[in-house]
Amino acid sequence: MTKTYDLTVIGGGPGGYTAALQAAERGRKVALIEEDFLGGTCLNRGCIPSKTLLKHAEVIESIETAKNWGIETGDLVLSFDKMRKRKDDVIEKLRGGIAYLLMQGKIDVYNGRGTAVTKHRIDIKTQGGSESIETKELILATGSSPAIPPIPGLQEIQFDTSDTIFNIPEIPASVVIIGGGVIGLELACIFQSLQSKVTIIEASSSIIPQEDEEASKLLQRELKKKGIQFAIKTTVTEVTEKEGVKAVHAKDDKGETHIYTAERLLVCVGRKPNVSAAHQLDLQLEGPFIKVNDQMQTSVNGVYAVGDVVGGYQLAHAAMSEAAVAVSNICGEHENMNNRIVPRCMYTLPEVASVGLTEKEAKARGLSVQTERFDLAASGKALAAGHQIGFIKLVYDTAYGEVIGATMVGPHVTEMISEASAFMYLEGTAEEMAKMIHPHPTISEGFYEAALQIVRKMRA
Ligand SMILES: Cc1cc2nc3c(=O)[nH]c(=O)nc-3n(C[C@H](O)[C@H](O)[C@H](O)COP(=O)(O)OP(=O)(O)OC[C@H]3O[C@@H](n4cnc5c(N)ncnc54)[C@H](O)[C@@H]3O)c2cc1C
Repeated sequence: MTKTYDLTVIGGGPGGYTAALQAAERGRKVALIEEDFLGGTCLNRGCIPSKTLLKHAEVIESIETAKNWGIETGDLVLSFDKMRKRKDDVIEKLRGGIAYLLMQGKIDVYNGRGTAVTKHRIDIKTQGGSESIETKELILATGSSPAIPPIPGLQEIQFDTSDTIFNIPEIPASVVIIGGGVIGLELACIFQSLQSKVTIIEASSSIIPQEDEEASKLLQRELKKKGIQFAIKTTVTEVTEKEGVKAVHAKDDKGETHIYTAERLLVCVGRKPNVSAAHQLDLQLEGPFIKVNDQMQTSVNGVYAVGDVVGGYQLAHAAMSEAAVAVSNICGEHENMNNRIVPRCMYTLPEVASVGLTEKEAKARGLSVQTERFDLAASGKALAAGHQIGFIKLVYDTAYGEVIGATMVGPHVTEMISEASAFMYLEGTAEEMAKMIHPHPTISEGFYEAALQIVRKMRA
């Protein structure tokens, strides 16, 4: 007999497993279909492997810095096998955690490829065969995959994407990375710390062009100091390979041709949504993404979509938040997705974190805003830790001093950005931030210092 569910979720990444767990908590009978490993891109080939290896990069950097502080160790010896094993152990542990939660929630997990034949019938192709289930409602959380640009020669050579790079057998002597976005830059930091020669080719006029301009410039300057080479405003025209050496032919903005060679070529030019599970539903699209409204409903009643497959920020916490919104609406609670406060974190060395509007975005929207910046060079804790490069910048509205955006560069700012998010969530002002007692000495005191400057300016 065909099994029937209140809700079926296709995709077991952060969007999918969050949706399944939250619906089960509310008493719904739930099926989750995942064709690969539980945890999706984030756990298996994204957030977690990259952050595990970036921790290694941070340790390597600390060892190098310690030499100048009178703390000597022997020569640096790197075992990539052991690093990869630690990364795999972390992933394995977390996968087990998700499986356990799904089991506790009495969710039926199908390991196979799901296809929505209608909005109520889902076919599942497993290794051993196929089966069908019936469902009242459906959430598509099928995520995204690395986009492969149509560069001449690319399909004829071996190249990596974020799907393959975490499992390469050895540290490469050199890597050329096409794409200076978040993923490309994080991977650049990993390989640079492992002593690979790293070159980043970016077609735009700056790295992370959507972020605060000063943050982008500071990050590029710091990464350059570490030895990462940048070819900005440079477009790749062709790639070739000879005796294992990849050659990337590119043209800069002056029309000059350059050839960058490396042992490995890593393509990080964005991500395309996985929409094939929903082809037969004839859903409305927005560009390549599934179109949804603020309740995460698609154009077909009873079908919801969340996470990377709908575009937007393409971040794990955005996917989880969208999943919570979709489930609330399925349960009749009428909730809207709030995209105003989605923190954006880059775990590069130094880290960059931001939330809300940049000054440029706020001005483009016609808002009357100003900014205040506190440099970490004036922070006792940052100096003590040897991390004095960076800043905390607040964007505030000139009428009430309400904090409407923040950008931070420096150590652990990905942890600290939540203070700015909390203020924005509660519509807090710079005056309130300046009154809040911050512990001393901490880097987060920079919020207090920047806010105090805003209060002084507004009083003047
Ligand atoms: C290198 C890298 C680093 C990243 N770092 C961060 C970070 O630090 N922080 C952050 O917030 N985000 C990060 N991201 C982005 C993050 O991984 C994604 O935003 C997040 O995984 C999206 O979640 P999702 O549930 O929408 O999709 P996914 O995690 O992609 O999960 C979708 C799942 O659906 C499955 N699936 C697809 N089609 C079917 C089908 N037909 N049947 C069954 N299963 C199917 C896939 O196998 C996959 O497991 C990173 C991404 C990369 C690539």
